[in-house]
Amino acid sequence: MMIKRQPFNKRTAAALTKGLAAALALGGCAHNTGSGTSAADVSATMEAVPSPVDALAVDPKVKAAFATIEGMNETNIDRLITLTEIPAPPFMEEARAAALVEMLKAAGLDDVSTDESGNVIARRPGKTGERTIAVVAHIDTVFPEGTDVTVRREGNTYFAPGIGDNTRGLVVLLSLVDALQAHKFETAADILFVGSVGEEGLGDLRGVRHLFRDGGPKIDSFIAIDGGSDDRVVTEAVGSNRYRVTFSGPGGHSYGAFGRAHPHQALSETIVGFTKAARRITDDGPKATFSVGRIGGGTSVNSIPFTSWMEIDMRSAEPEKLAKLDAAFQKAVQNALEKENKNRLEGDGLTVEVKSVGQRPPGRSDPDAGLLANVRGALQHLGIEPRFVASSTDANIPISLGIPAVTISRGGVSKNAHAPNESWENVDAHLAIQAVLLALLTEAEME
Ligand SMILES: [Zn+2]
Repeated sequence: MMIKRQPFNKRTAAALTKGLAAALALGGCAHNTGSGTSAADVSATMEAVPSPVDALAVDPKVKAAFATIEGMNETNIDRLITLTEIPAPPFMEEARAAALVEMLKAAGLDDVSTDESGNVIARRPGKTGERTIAVVAHIDTVFPEGTDVTVRREGNTYFAPGIGDNTRGLVVLLSLVDALQAHKFETAADILFVGSVGEEGLGDLRGVRHLFRDGGPKIDSFIAIDGGSDDRVVTEAVGSNRYRVTFSGPGGHSYGAFGRAHPHQALSETIVGFTKAARRITDDGPKATFSVGRIGGGTSVNSIPFTSWMEIDMRSAEPEKLAKLDAAFQKAVQNALEKENKNRLEGDGLTVEVKSVGQRPPGRSDPDAGLLANVRGALQHLGIEPRFVASSTDANIPISLGIPAVTISRGGVSKNAHAPNESWENVDAHLAIQAVLLALLTEAEME
């Protein structure tokens, strides 16, 4: 049976735009409730609208693929345990990447490789190959080398660092390949399956940045699989600017050298000055945040320190707000430096180094892009009402480049991500895979 991509009709577009506009307006005052997630809910529940996905969902082949996915439970648990027990600390993803290459080949893809940054890339050619749809899950975890990653099972729940975030995402990639191969699906567009490196923390999205380098593969549409709630669709990219700031000076005896420029005083002056200015930026309008997460330095209680350092994180999905926060921060550092040096009674002045340790670009997905309608239609077909949220994920890079991109759930129930007692519960885990398959087949134009 041939199914042509249905035109994204005006009514669909209007309803979606209206829904998203309401969602974005709501997002302006949505604040985190301290649930431990970095996402802010930016949507109200939207009315159901006809979707091009519906026509495709009744195709017998798609129905058969859905049944195949439901039957993958055991295989997927084996894959989850195997991959979770191969450590993938930040900047050390090679071993897990190598295993993923073998698994993608075993699933039936021929064109599988690793790029210069360490990303695993598997291309499933389409009939025309005029467009390319990327489906991406990150390989890295936040856990350092030496962390015990042995999987422990209690009933339907599996415990191990990184098991949900995002090892389960890699299992979803493999399941999609299985379903496409088993039923010999043909699409017009190429599909690029990507295991990305460096999504977490100081990895600073380096894998996906590399994917979108000049001369990299052409990608028209991007679906990241990450996050643990089936109804959660990330359409806004929370950008972040992160710095490590170090004040340095001559140091000396706390009594004998009293009056020398004092790095800790300059650091605390920076924090106080910045906090005052930043609150004027963050107190209203679209959400923006800042936090000095770490501070350190000093030798002993009776010494003036040689150095004083801090690490700061500023975030917003609104480029203008993030830029304002950044400018206020740079100014606070310079003001504090000048003040401390001016007030010193003896010795050399302080110097300061402001080093960038992370820049994730902010932005919003185009609400009129077909991708958003397809993802929404796929979820609704499975009885899931999507919530559109803002978060920081691999999709930040394509979103900031104006390429349609979303991040959707890996399925099951994820708990305690980024904590040693992380767990993943095997509940309705097939739904997320079916949702991605439907959205993907619509987006890649199943033939
Ligand atoms: Zn993740």
